[in-house]
Amino acid sequence: MNVVINLNNVVQNLKKYSKQTVNIIAVSKTFSLNEIRPLIDFGHIHFGENRVNEAIDKWSKIIIHDTKIQLHLIGRLQSNKVADALRIFSYIHSLDSIKLAEKLSFEQERTQKYLKYFIQVNFENEKQKGGIPEDQIKEFLNFCRITKKLNIVGLMCIPPIDKPPELYFQKLQSLAKINNVPELSMGMSSDYIKAIEFGSSFIRIGSLIFGNRK
Ligand SMILES: *Cc1c(COP(=O)(O)O)cnc(C)c1O
Repeated sequence: MNVVINLNNVVQNLKKYSKQTVNIIAVSKTFSLNEIRPLIDFGHIHFGENRVNEAIDKWSKIIIHDTKIQLHLIGRLQSNKVADALRIFSYIHSLDSIKLAEKLSFEQERTQKYLKYFIQVNFENEKQKGGIPEDQIKEFLNFCRITKKLNIVGLMCIPPIDKPPELYFQKLQSLAKINNVPELSMGMSSDYIKAIEFGSSFIRIGSLIFGNRK
């Protein structure tokens, strides 16, 4: 498993299929630093984790020395982990409740650490997933931006597994356009080529780079 070659295959595909700039988030959840290290040495910038504690254990020392690395939280954030999340992450892709927005805003002011946020959209109101229903995005976005002064850079979605993902990539693209949100976090190992057709700017790639998770 050569993670640098795997990453480069994705880069080549992006060159072939996309006109815009696409950021590759290497999703390193469950993998050890030894497995991730070749990508760090290669100079890769964006890495994704889905658990706050795992990210702190793995990345705390690394980001002190390698200040250009940007960590993305792509999993659910519990409000009791907000202070820890602000210490380690540059982006949070799973902003999905009033309570979380309030806590993030409060802790940002307290710690003077300001992150970039994606609001997660839950198009089919799937119970096992986080996210705000489509029809509440406008209101939630205004609340986050205006009332809570959070820097919302984009929208994020994880399409239902049993439906064609392009349906949801298209929905997310138009929802972002209507609401003046520049970035789109969509597309994983199995569907990123489709996601970039609909303007994705942050793809989240795990298994194609690191192999299957245990
Ligand atoms: C694990 C995960 C990914 C990466 O999935 P792969 O199929 O391994 O590329 C992307 N997004 C989220 C939210 C994840 O939890």
